[in-house]
Formats: sequence, C-alpha cells, structure tokens
Amino acid sequence: MADDAQPEGHDRARGAAREALVRTVAREGVRDRAVLEAMAAVPRELFVDPSDAASAYDDHPLPIGHGQTISQPFIVALMAEAAELSGAGRVLEIGAGSGYAAAVFAQLTSEVYGVERDRRLVERARLALSRAGETRVTLRWGDGNEGWPEHAPYDAILVSAAAETIPEALFQQLAVGGRLVAPIGDPAGMHQELRRWRKRAPQRVDEETLCAVRFVPLRAGIVG
Ligand code: SAH
Repeated sequence: MADDAQPEGHDRARGAAREALVRTVAREGVRDRAVLEAMAAVPRELFVDPSDAASAYDDHPLPIGHGQTISQPFIVALMAEAAELSGAGRVLEIGAGSGYAAAVFAQLTSEVYGVERDRRLVERARLALSRAGETRVTLRWGDGNEGWPEHAPYDAILVSAAAETIPEALFQQLAVGGRLVAPIGDPAGMHQELRRWRKRAPQRVDEETLCAVRFVPLRAGIVG
C-alpha cells in the first residue's frame, strides 16, 4: 500500500499544479473555455526534461536541449485562442519543438500536423506524444518554411518561431476562412509582434497585430 501512496500523491500534486497553471493563464487574459480545458488536459511534465519536472507547471519556457525551449503555456493558449482552434479541422504547427503546443492544439481539433527542423527534437517529441497517449498529432522532420503541402489546406497555421516575414508557402496552404498566427519581427532581437492573418478569399488576406512577444528564430534548412 505504501508503494502506491507516493505515485498517487504525485498525481494529485501534478493535477493541482496544472489547475493552478490554468487559472494563471485565465488571469493573464485567455477567455476561451475550450482552450483552458485543453491546457488542463495536457500533462506538460511529459514534454519537459525529467530534471525540470518540478517546474513543468510554472508559466515559463524551459530548455529542451539542442538550444531550443518548450513554449510558455500562456503563449500556447494565446495562440490557440487567436487562431480560433476550437472546432477547427486540420491544423499545422511550424516549429513543433517538444510537441507540447501540438498536444494542446490536438485537444481542440481533429488533426494536427507539426513540422520541426531538428531531427533529434522530432524523435523526442514523438516519444513524449506517445507517452501522453496523443494520436492526433503527426510530426515531420523538415523545413517549416515550406509548410507541409501534402495535407493542405489548413484551417489554421501556427508558427512557433519568429521571422521577418511569413513564407509564401504558408499563405498558399491556408484554407479560405483560415487563420495564421505567427510572431513577426527581428528574429534575433527583443521586438516581435504576434500577428493574425485571416484568408478572406484566395487572393485576400487581412492582417492584425495582437501583442508583443519573444520567440526563438525561424531558421532555414534542417539539422540532425
Ligand atoms: N511550440 C514548441 C516550441 C517551439 S520552439 C513547444 O511547445 O515545445 C521553436 C522550434 O522551432 C524549435 O524547436 C526549432 O528547432 C524550430 N524551428 C526553427 N526554425 C524552423 C524551421 N524552419 N522549420 C521547422 N522548425 C523550425
């Protein structure tokens, strides 16, 4: 019995920490109930390095190796809300990293496709997703500047790394009515803006600025 008591205690503590994180994200301004429920459903501790398990539910990015980070939970929630993911069909994430954001997006949609340029991270993310029992996310090792044309068009595209402009391929792969959310600005600097584009018609895309953010750069080519 004593052997069982500790894991159960850990589960309870993690559940409480996850609920506290969801309250933080709501307090910071995310209103979409479905997004908050998605945050409550994903075990972030499976996507961080084991040595960071105690910090898994802090609202911060954390290192995941290879110079990259798992996204800050609030930013994941903000992007999901901005992209109007609740009930969206097919979603593409560029820069899947740990797979955490993709797992959150998968709670809200039927299919998530993720592109990641670092092969070691693709393998790491696949393992975490399978440990989390997440089967709606499909990852590919590749250069996200090209999107993933085979599964297009997408109802939403989320770019998790900063660039000065959006690669044209991504607009082409967005469905009419679809939303693209991405950080734009100096990739190496402090000044980036989260922006949302809405494809009104095949040749018409509206753009709006949401808030200031800070992401790692969107790079060219693949590594691994
Ligand atoms: N959303 C992820 C974190 C993303 S960090 C999470 O929740 O864990 C940004 C990721 O973008 C990094 O893993 C980086 O390797 C990747 N990246 C950068 N440039 C890329 C490109 N051109 N194509 C695909 N992935 C890219």
